[in-house]
Amino acid sequence: MLKDDEIAACRAALLAERDGLAAEDMASADNRATVTLDQQSVGRLSRMDALQQQAMAQATARRRQGREARIAAALARIDEGEFGFCQDCGEEIGLKRLTLDPTLPTCVSCAQG
Ligand SMILES: [Zn+2]
Repeated sequence: MLKDDEIAACRAALLAERDGLAAEDMASADNRATVTLDQQSVGRLSRMDALQQQAMAQATARRRQGREARIAAALARIDEGEFGFCQDCGEEIGLKRLTLDPTLPTCVSCAQG
């Protein structure tokens, strides 16, 4: 069983990562905005660069949203007292594994299976 302070440490890590992702999201919001460059002034290549950058920013944002969902799910498991137990088999996940990534919902053997 995880101790209360171990769960608290995981919770703190999850909250810190969530804050970091939210800050990144704010910082990159401009990059994902619709490309509205003036074709005549910037030329075709620059516009393609801008579109490519926008696509990359959107892909990064999608990854970030996926990570945020995993963090939210882990925080919910903490609130429900289910944190630290494998969602597939119910066994303990292990502190080492959770320290590595507190959003992991399954134990090592279920993750490998
Ligand atoms: Zn398992």
